[in-house]
Amino acid sequence: MGKLNVVMLRYLSREHFRVLTAVEMGMKNHEIVPASLIASIANLKHGGCNKILRELVKHKLLAYERTKTVQGYRLTNAGYDYLALKTLSSRQVINSVGNQMGVGKESDIYIVANTEEQQFALKLHRLGRTSFRSLKNKRDYHKHRHKMSWLYLSRIAAMKEFAYMKALHDRKFPVPKPIDYNRHAVVMELVAGYPLCQVRQMEDPAAVYSELMDLIVKLANHGLIHGDFNEFNLILDNDDHATLIDFPQMMSTSHPNAEWYFDRDVNCIKEFFKKRFNYESELFPTFKDIRRECSLDREIAATGYTKEMQEDGELLCPPGSDEDDSTTEVLELVEDAENELNFLISESRTSDNDLCSSEGEADTAESEENTQRLSKGTIENAAEVENQAGQGGCCKVKEDEDECPELVDSSTLNEEFRHYSEECVVPVAGHRTRTKSISSVRSVGSCSTIPPELVKQKIKRQLTKQQKSALKQRLQKGEANVYTKQRRENMQNIKSSLDAVNFWG
Ligand code: ADP
Ligand code: MG
Repeated sequence: MGKLNVVMLRYLSREHFRVLTAVEMGMKNHEIVPASLIASIANLKHGGCNKILRELVKHKLLAYERTKTVQGYRLTNAGYDYLALKTLSSRQVINSVGNQMGVGKESDIYIVANTEEQQFALKLHRLGRTSFRSLKNKRDYHKHRHKMSWLYLSRIAAMKEFAYMKALHDRKFPVPKPIDYNRHAVVMELVAGYPLCQVRQMEDPAAVYSELMDLIVKLANHGLIHGDFNEFNLILDNDDHATLIDFPQMMSTSHPNAEWYFDRDVNCIKEFFKKRFNYESELFPTFKDIRRECSLDREIAATGYTKEMQEDGELLCPPGSDEDDSTTEVLELVEDAENELNFLISESRTSDNDLCSSEGEADTAESEENTQRLSKGTIENAAEVENQAGQGGCCKVKEDEDECPELVDSSTLNEEFRHYSEECVVPVAGHRTRTKSISSVRSVGSCSTIPPELVKQKIKRQLTKQQKSALKQRLQKGEANVYTKQRRENMQNIKSSLDAVNFWG
């Protein structure tokens, strides 16, 4: 058990967080993020950025890695913890971090407190810790994703945990009160008591047994199965009342293997009471006993229903994360970096299209068609950029957001718990909505009704987007950049050595 070293939080500058966040964003597409890409995303000069990168490595918030094909940086657990802690502390949810109070299979639990000295439990999900195969068997939320990173998995685990806890707490289930979450961190009520696994004696095992079985049935009546209902995830207070914790693996009673999981939960309790308290009862619930009262599973999109919810966009950037100043800032910076890098392309293309739009009707029609074609590309790119930037697609998109809507959308991410509701707009749907709106805007005007000036403006706008997408592609090829850069440096070295040889005769 250790302490989370948060002292550094005080000494890290804005730039440090900007670089950390840039690495986090880079990791959405790269396991190891090249330094040049980090500098572009963070919009810092390479020299300055390298200095900060070195400091972050020294403090173990980043790790430097070099393979045959790529060299660069990746976030460490501590780096990711810092990002989450900074966000939570800037929201004034937590003010201090105390000792580690528990180590779960896939988490570290700390005691934290807010400015009023009120204590909470902070759960930091660490999904890369257990073996990947066992994780794959146990959880299903990465089904549609080819490349899973621990960042991604830990983040969705925290999001799911918070969603379930909130829904259950609202319905008066005995679970900790959820306070807030960010990235892989969940802040919740600190439950007083002992985990059931540490309880050796109790006054009335029969009463506790039946309370726990009732809880399993009540959950199922609400459409849910805990999936890990055992002595490690139940905390018993002084009056022997239980509080249930640990929810990321919860699933719907409509899950194909729901009955198996339900029986397993029931058996865990049966076996534990038999072994520990020598208590056996003939009474235990079966899957057939379930009488559906409501469909909490649908509301919180439990396993059997989560296909839509599992689209990358929403999962990578759960609602609320936009409150993180540094993230928002870096999102803007990504745009700047892209703009800068694509400056040259934009120059040539803009002039081409100026010509195009100022000519006759036929040309205008052609350019309009071009525009539509471009807008299609833009839509794809917008969706892509949005995913890359980790924006949830559930955002409402304004029709007239021509100024880089994919970045502006980030402000709508703090709508709370969109994923609870059945009407939740799926990220992809969100893109589609906008897709429609963009293409409809583009296709409404026929060439004869749009003044050439307007067409010109539109094309310019579209081109800016196209340039951005081209930039993005270039940004994504960060590894290649490392090589080009190295080659260029080598050539320069050779040239200067040759010059020197010439000079000295
Ligand atoms: P894991 O998913 O890794 O199993 P858990 O949520 O089960 O993590 O937490 C691990 C341990 O931390 C628990 O067994 C419990 O002792 C402690 N713990 C977790 N959450 C709380 C809480 N809200 N209040 C008190 N103790 C907690
Ligand atoms: Mg647990």
